[in-house]
Amino acid sequence: MNYDVIIIGAGPGGIFSAYELTKLSPELKVAVFEAGHSLEKRRCPIDGEKIKSCIGCKTCSIMSGFGGAGAFSDGKYNITNDFGGTLYEYIGKKQALDLMRYVDEINMAYGGEGTKLYSTAGTKFKKLCIQNDLHLLDASVRHLGTDINYIVLENIYKYLETRVDFFFNTPVESVEATENGYKVITAKEVYTGKKCIVSVGRSGSKWMEKVCKEMGIPTKSNRVDIGVRVELPAEVFSHLTDELYESKIVYRTKEYGDLVRTFCMNPKGAVVNENTNGIITVNGHSYEDPAKQTENTNFALLVAKHFSEPFKDSNGYGESIARLSNMLGGGVIVQRFGDLIRGRRSTQDRIDGAFITPTLNATPGDLSLVLPKRILDGIVEMIYALDKVAPGTANDDTLLYGVEVKFYNMEVEVNENLMSKKYDGLYIIGDGSGITHSLSHASASGVLVAREIAKN
Ligand SMILES: Cc1cc2nc3c(=O)[nH]c(=O)nc-3n(C[C@H](O)[C@H](O)[C@H](O)COP(=O)(O)OP(=O)(O)OC[C@H]3O[C@@H](n4cnc5c(N)ncnc54)[C@H](O)[C@@H]3O)c2cc1C
Repeated sequence: MNYDVIIIGAGPGGIFSAYELTKLSPELKVAVFEAGHSLEKRRCPIDGEKIKSCIGCKTCSIMSGFGGAGAFSDGKYNITNDFGGTLYEYIGKKQALDLMRYVDEINMAYGGEGTKLYSTAGTKFKKLCIQNDLHLLDASVRHLGTDINYIVLENIYKYLETRVDFFFNTPVESVEATENGYKVITAKEVYTGKKCIVSVGRSGSKWMEKVCKEMGIPTKSNRVDIGVRVELPAEVFSHLTDELYESKIVYRTKEYGDLVRTFCMNPKGAVVNENTNGIITVNGHSYEDPAKQTENTNFALLVAKHFSEPFKDSNGYGESIARLSNMLGGGVIVQRFGDLIRGRRSTQDRIDGAFITPTLNATPGDLSLVLPKRILDGIVEMIYALDKVAPGTANDDTLLYGVEVKFYNMEVEVNENLMSKKYDGLYIIGDGSGITHSLSHASASGVLVAREIAKN
């Protein structure tokens, strides 16, 4: 019941904290509490036959369990300060990159060896993009793929299971400061830890808000990204994806001056449902194994919205839009680009007649009834801009799935070691802190705090 370090959440942030602690201070007694299942028990019931869409499981196996939201992800570890979080604002650009490279080394040592590291350095596409008023961000990206990512997690778990106490299916209800550390309260038991690392990710956003309120930890509202997932034949983007794998391209709309960006590109991948606190949105991933690849590439087009006065709840705004799509479509809506432009809904017949086979079974509908005009106009403008560097993007049969929402947690007040300014020994890391939004940044934040704890 009594630990030196308690970690809440077994996503990349929590896993890399545990890993680094066992390496640097093997004598420490460490416990990891995780709301979801162990890795081998994580299974999304959607099989495409009996269960075709999300049935809202008690804990979503896509978002929760060992490996966190990243377990069935595409395993794209972007080594960059240009996107994926603002960790560098706390620890400096160099240290942030060094930590991300260290995480990459561990992933390679635990099964990722042989996977490809892509880079934008020296690419000709930067020029092509700029000539078309599109801006390609700099990054190196390690693509593990969903299959290898799973193997890496399996191997890291094998290493950790004898060194750390794991409590699966054990959501932490609350955290309380005590004289010597922290009390972590679960439905059945109370545990204590001298230090506590909170790494609850996006699925723990509501819980994190509650804990911050209870403990009086200041938070700042964050942005929300709203948009669609685009799916098109892999050939349309193959010149970019073959060289860069993922290209993060930003465009400023002429009409409103909003920034629209591509996000999470999955060459030859699949579009999937995502369940965040009961709201069904869309996401994507792809496999490294050619046998599991599809004929389509998918990526998100997102517009960032940040509300501050008088309305502050950016996530609430994103949630309402996602709920509207869930209300109209019973889940995710799919529409052909040609139908959207002609102002008509897509029907099953029109989807079936398209020269592309959707990889997600979504409800044909009309995204213009869901997305605010300003956001939709920006997305349409970006699709035409992308058509100049990847002709075919604006084809009638290009599929748009909606809505894709990237919720960002409230930014929690922490110091340069990601420790609460108010509570000594309470670290808040990963996506749950609002500081990171990616596998590499979340993992790096885990290593950082483990080193800090080991040092002390
Ligand atoms: C489908 C999908 C694809 C993605 N693809 C990529 C990608 O290719 N590249 C990339 O960089 N990022 C990707 N992401 C985002 C990436 O997965 C996250 O940024 C990353 O997992 C964040 O790590 P984390 O440890 O902070 O949080 P999470 O991975 O969200 O882990 C948090 C864990 O905490 C647990 N938890 C929450 N509340 C509690 C509680 N009260 N008690 C106990 N446990 C709790 C949750 O169950 C969860 O397992 C993807 C996300 C999804 C959903």
